[in-house]
Amino acid sequence: MTQAVFDCLLASVSALYQGSEALQAFVPWQQRLDWQPREPVHIPAADLVGNWLDAGTPETMPLHNAVAQAARHVDWRQTYTEDEVGAHFLANYGYFELFGPDGHFRTPEARAYIAYWGPKLYYDWHCHEAEELYVVLSGEALFHIDGGPDLLLRPGDTRLHGSWQSHAMTTLEQPILTLVLWRGAGLEGLPEMGRAA
Ligand code: ZN
Repeated sequence: MTQAVFDCLLASVSALYQGSEALQAFVPWQQRLDWQPREPVHIPAADLVGNWLDAGTPETMPLHNAVAQAARHVDWRQTYTEDEVGAHFLANYGYFELFGPDGHFRTPEARAYIAYWGPKLYYDWHCHEAEELYVVLSGEALFHIDGGPDLLLRPGDTRLHGSWQSHAMTTLEQPILTLVLWRGAGLEGLPEMGRAA
């Protein structure tokens, strides 16, 4: 039963990938993705995502809904501490690793996260070694990047972050659900708060 929820999630990511030139240009599809049973970890975002249905575009809604269905079964994580981002942020944010070195599906070669932020949050400047592609599934947010303009991204929109290129994000009236892909050096690392020099 639980594995079926994850198979649906992976099939929905695969369908989005097959229809997206931006995704295909960023990483090859991982042929070998072995499902790993993991204990679910519950955080407030699990319920916020689980109760958010039928958002996104015709292309992104199948994955949005698969994430909502899986929300109570996944290993939710929060990279940051309350000291770093505050209790309100932690009550309205979370992510899980769908595939990757430590994901629900195991592969050493790429990483795919599903990440959620509630309305009116400021995700402060941070950076990481791996290159990153955001795909907005539902909702919207203002994306900030070092050396580039702020952009309001909506469902289906993508944004590329280079290695160690600092970025930040502000949500407005709506929450945002995203698919985040990583590639290259630093794949096993985590984001660090602060702005790269
Ligand atoms: Zn990032």
